[in-house]
Amino acid sequence: MALIVQKYGGTSVGNTERIKNVARRVAEYHARGDKLVVVVSAMSGVTDSLIKLAKEIMPLPSEREMDVLLATGEQTTIALTAMALHALGVKAVSLTGAQAGIVTDGLHTKAKIMNITPKKVHALLNEGHVVIVAGFQGETPDGQITTLGRGGSDLTAIALAAALKADLCQIYTDVDGVYTCDPRIVPEARKLTEIAYDELMELAGAGAKVMQLRSVEFAKKFGVVFEVRSSMNDNPGTIVKEETKSMEGVVIRGVALDKNQAKITVVGVPDRPGMAARLFKALAEAAINVDMIVQNISHGTQTTDLSFTVDKAELLKARKVIDGLKNEVGFKDVLADEKIGKLSIVGVGMRSHSGVAARMFDTLAREGVNIAMISTSEIKISVVIDLDCAERATRAVHAAFLGA
Ligand code: ADP
Ligand code: ASP
Ligand code: MG
Repeated sequence: MALIVQKYGGTSVGNTERIKNVARRVAEYHARGDKLVVVVSAMSGVTDSLIKLAKEIMPLPSEREMDVLLATGEQTTIALTAMALHALGVKAVSLTGAQAGIVTDGLHTKAKIMNITPKKVHALLNEGHVVIVAGFQGETPDGQITTLGRGGSDLTAIALAAALKADLCQIYTDVDGVYTCDPRIVPEARKLTEIAYDELMELAGAGAKVMQLRSVEFAKKFGVVFEVRSSMNDNPGTIVKEETKSMEGVVIRGVALDKNQAKITVVGVPDRPGMAARLFKALAEAAINVDMIVQNISHGTQTTDLSFTVDKAELLKARKVIDGLKNEVGFKDVLADEKIGKLSIVGVGMRSHSGVAARMFDTLAREGVNIAMISTSEIKISVVIDLDCAERATRAVHAAFLGA
């Protein structure tokens, strides 16, 4: 008898047929005598449509109210999933994030989990119930509803697996594992049997939305080994775990393309100490994540241009913050470019192999793709390129490192 945490993403619960399908799988495990905690996302498209509704009311809605709104998506699915289990004669109870004991800080729309007290979950499991928990949501110590950032149901599942000391954590999605690249962009991509936490973190940070970045960070911190697999078949998935020696033999584990970034350029920033600090401190205070940063050389003009990337979803908020500093910093203009793609290659083998960057840049040159920004980490190289050629460039880079 094992304690298993399973998570089903939006597509896997996308309609009532699929919810019944999830219930059948859960019922099979339950019949074996396993204790099951099932985390579900909102039905696919629901979170996006709720965001759209809010934006029809106003462009920058209150983040507290956004959380109240978005949490309803997952609340629908937990009830429907519990009903689907009842229809199969299985005892099941649905819980919101708060009822499951998930306590977060107050950073609305991307709250961090502070602790989990799964007393109710344990009690229900001991009574023989399947416990269905709403992903993506929690509650502050003073009872405010919060959400955990897009894709946050992954985090709910991993955090519950850690808190419950689960024997198994399975992330069910619409692909049967982590691939060398998003199969929607590169049809030749291959399924990986295993991947190191660090590699999946870099891929997730680079836009591979198969797992939420923070959920993988959490898994690494608490040593939660998990499997990414399909809810549509029984194929073995991808095991995500600590790095092993044999993983270093592979130079590049995967390629990712992020089409959700935007580039902001602050033009004519006075070339004096403290200017960059002022701009980025204000963005940090507004909890905006800045990714790549490039400062151009000032050719004796006493001013410089500063470019950086942010999530498209935060572009408006970031512009507002920067515009607010115009008088204080004294820059000339702010430009935004949403037509960019960030292409990244990731692999722990990069630590022990040289010439990887040269090969990537050479591949892009052959494709006639211009590089606007570059950033690297020990196990990742990212470039910002034009959105129009981003998918073609991704396929070329994948072919160069991972074969056609
Ligand atoms: P869920 O709703 O189950 O959370 P997501 O849509 O968030 O599912 O994530 C699964 C999707 O991630 C896949 O359909 C696929 O298009 C995309 N994806 C991006 N990169 C990868 C990758 N390297 N391997 C597998 N899937 C990927
Ligand atoms: N429903 C949320 C989203 O679409 C959370 C999730 O699906 O993981 O981002
Ligand atoms: Mg997801």
